[in-house]
Amino acid sequence: MAAPAPVVLDTPDPDFADLLAARPHLTAHAMDGLVMEDVPLAAVARDHGTPTWVYSAGTLRRRARMLLSALRDAGLDASIHYAMKANDSLAVLRVLRSEGLGADVVSEGEFRIALAAGIPGSAIVFSGVGKTAGEIAFALSHGVMQINAESAEEVERISAVACSMGAMAPVSLRINPDVDARTHAKISTGKAENKFGIAWTDAAALYARMAGMPGLRPIGLAVHIGSQITEGMAGFRAAYARVAELAQGLIARGLPVERLDCGGGLGIPYRDEIAPTPAALAGAIKATLGPLGLPVMLEPGRWIAGPAGVLLSSVVLQKRGAQRRFVVVDAAMNDLLRPAMYDAWHGILPVAPDALRAPLAPADVVGPVCESGDTFTRGRSLPDLPPGALVAFLDAGAYGATMSSTYNARPLAAEVLVDGARTALIRPRQDVEALIAHQRVPEWLDGGAA
Ligand SMILES: *Cc1c(COP(=O)(O)O)cnc(C)c1O
Repeated sequence: MAAPAPVVLDTPDPDFADLLAARPHLTAHAMDGLVMEDVPLAAVARDHGTPTWVYSAGTLRRRARMLLSALRDAGLDASIHYAMKANDSLAVLRVLRSEGLGADVVSEGEFRIALAAGIPGSAIVFSGVGKTAGEIAFALSHGVMQINAESAEEVERISAVACSMGAMAPVSLRINPDVDARTHAKISTGKAENKFGIAWTDAAALYARMAGMPGLRPIGLAVHIGSQITEGMAGFRAAYARVAELAQGLIARGLPVERLDCGGGLGIPYRDEIAPTPAALAGAIKATLGPLGLPVMLEPGRWIAGPAGVLLSSVVLQKRGAQRRFVVVDAAMNDLLRPAMYDAWHGILPVAPDALRAPLAPADVVGPVCESGDTFTRGRSLPDLPPGALVAFLDAGAYGATMSSTYNARPLAAEVLVDGARTALIRPRQDVEALIAHQRVPEWLDGGAA
């Protein structure tokens, strides 16, 4: 496999005004500084400390509606199953559920969280490349809408589990269309070399076999080619065209096909990427799958939750080296992993009103974790940021908190939901005691249990 191309940023970074203009839930106030909806972020930091994830409920709603209306405007009978690995907060799920979204889950843990948020099994799709028999049984016992199977072996397993329960499993087959989504290698999932899905060349034979297997109800095909797809619609179109061709063949053979799952993957502009619009995505679905006249499903995660959140952080100190200025903040790679893992670029805005207008100079923004990879950005134009100054990492609503760890014994950050002028703590900051309390020291170790 070819090494991923190095990230070359050959355009100037967007300035603060550009970043704000593209994010209508964030505004710069002369008195309050950076404000989310009607809540000054400085007030969130004052009340809840930092680092803290802050999500805009209005943005979640707005984006869910934009996507739904784009699909409806294209004349599609479509449902949205939010990929909750992007952000699995109960409050976020509740907001999206009230917009009519279901969930796409990839583990029993996510399934249980979706149920706890009031999303019934009948609105849950179970995806993932390695579901255990126990997870499959859990899903079936909660009336799962659809299990997306990824291999012949998994199909056999689902059949066996369903039979042992006297259940019928609604199964969709996730195909690997062998198309290049042209995204980061770590989040590309639709090439033959990726672990995901069943080779599209084998799909028809397996689907026909599924129709004769006990405990299985084949209901369609699914595809998901990767995440953060911004390079036009070509990858989506190629994948959906494969699905259309396969589905047509299955229907021609008299096999039941009830609906088609288009996966997620729609990218967002973190920096200055030109991301496809919901209308373009809906148009690609309509053009390829529309002629089949079947209901379609979409599983977006990042597109809905990403822009809705920021990671609010305080400057610990500014370290002026011989060659570089380091701004050391109290958030780190254990909180927001994307820069370390995917070389991801996140907008960074100062929160104080005067800092939003102050002269700029290059700075490396880093966390306190003992890894050189704990670097959020290098050479970013930022104002003087003395200890205590607040900054907001933008577009941190997806694959932010859910990818956090407690590396360096750093407790999980707090999470706050903003809705208009209202604010609520939706996940209190973890305390270090919690890290200790879940451990056991064997009695037979010297000194015995602590
Ligand atoms: C991760 C994932 C999604 C969501 O991807 P986004 O890029 O966040 O839209 C959808 N479907 C499946 C199967 C996934 O694994």
